[in-house]
Amino acid sequence: MNAFDQFEIWWVTGAQLLYGGDAVVAVDAHSKDMVDGLNQSGNIPVKIVYKGTANSSKEVEAVMKAANNDEKCIGIITWMHTFSPAKMWIHGLQSLRKPLLHFHTQYNAEIPWDTMDMDFMNLNQSAHGDREFGHICARLRIPRKVVVGHWKDESAQKHIAVWARVAAAWADAQDMLILRFGDQMNNVAVTDGDKVAAEQVMGYHVDYTPVSELMEYFKKITDAEVDALVAEYMKLYDHEAELETPGTEGYQKVWNAAKAELALRAILKAKGAKGFTTNFDDLGNDDINDPNFVGFDQIPGLASQRLMAEGYGFGGEGDWKSAALLRSVWFMTQGMPMGCSFLEDYTLNFNGKNSSILQAHMLEISPMIAAQKPRLEVHFLGIGVRKQPTARLVFTSKVAKGVTATVVDMGNRFRLIVNDVNCIETKPLPKLPVASALWIPEPDFEVGAGAWILAGGTHHSIFSYDLDAEYWQDYAEIAGIEMLHINHDTTIESFKKELRMNEVYYMLNKALR
Ligand code: MN
Repeated sequence: MNAFDQFEIWWVTGAQLLYGGDAVVAVDAHSKDMVDGLNQSGNIPVKIVYKGTANSSKEVEAVMKAANNDEKCIGIITWMHTFSPAKMWIHGLQSLRKPLLHFHTQYNAEIPWDTMDMDFMNLNQSAHGDREFGHICARLRIPRKVVVGHWKDESAQKHIAVWARVAAAWADAQDMLILRFGDQMNNVAVTDGDKVAAEQVMGYHVDYTPVSELMEYFKKITDAEVDALVAEYMKLYDHEAELETPGTEGYQKVWNAAKAELALRAILKAKGAKGFTTNFDDLGNDDINDPNFVGFDQIPGLASQRLMAEGYGFGGEGDWKSAALLRSVWFMTQGMPMGCSFLEDYTLNFNGKNSSILQAHMLEISPMIAAQKPRLEVHFLGIGVRKQPTARLVFTSKVAKGVTATVVDMGNRFRLIVNDVNCIETKPLPKLPVASALWIPEPDFEVGAGAWILAGGTHHSIFSYDLDAEYWQDYAEIAGIEMLHINHDTTIESFKKELRMNEVYYMLNKALR
């Protein structure tokens, strides 16, 4: 089963009746061929559904409004086989609320020099038709992706596929609930922001959820359920024999961690939530030494790790923007091989041109990015309200390229910051046994970290091996938010200019927020 089976992308062909009904019938047949070809290419992860030709303002408006109201439809692809006079697209485009991709293509590939006649021309005029459509989108300031290429060309298909995955994640985010167990860490600015604006602009909803409510779920978890989950851990992960021996501290800590995972999953499912945040200072107020203590005896790090791999968004220390972003990245990368995770810039490794940043969190890294079978370990963790031996999965991450991203609230707008990074070989940390990755940001540590800091980027980010910046360009376009891309071409001088130019642009563009 394909992860995106519940979705459709609609294809609408722009036409007009100037060339007679026969031409439109022929274009209709061409359009069906093109849609079938794309669906059969195996390159587009979402089914494309042909919705016919649009020949008038009324027809355009009808199909756009139908798309808005159809839950399966996550976006529209338009193609103008010929001049589809664009004033007839004004009302439709003004009402469209789904992502738009304008495909500049043509049914025919090479010009049939010897046989081309006027009938052929009437069916293969997207060279000017798509420009007329592009003009009205530009004039109306309609956000969209323009893909250029023949419809049988794999490179064009791959650009459509990127947009399709982003559009699917966008649809998922419009129905996204993030639960916050506890607030931000005291006084931390970068992980906070305007939750009303986030819902207005990016679609997701963030709810405070008292830890006491989570504890009501915790109390209902049965010992049998916990025993079964612990048995699953022992099959999945390497571990010391002690962790399987009832009566030992290690066994008890793993058992308690499993119970916490079951409680978190239960409340997320009960509320239909797609992500959550935790706060290590808020795990319930009871005294852990009280014989009647009921609650989390340790940070639910193992639970967060495993729930991330299941598709739940997660942000540490109340970071709801990261939780929502991780859910979107997980959603759009379904079926892709390398994985994604919440990460934190942990500590720096100065080494000249190879200077790098160790990525970790206290415990909460998704095992999706592990280079080897994760190891289940229990070690003392001396932070937060529970300074306790704590269960966690320990691993290092794959050596490969990736991209990391964060969203920050600039007060008048959201800013997406994206950095291409190269994960390199890391070393074990015997005195700090946590999951980690080690990367050099593009273009190098000095410029990459400097640009990120100038842009106001978080110490938290959402990392993916499978995405590249094109996915984020499509996301920013659909959301209508600012995007800054730090890559191999970035210089501090040009980046500062971009920051200043964007400041002016977003001050003038009142439509955004
Ligand atoms: Mn953190």
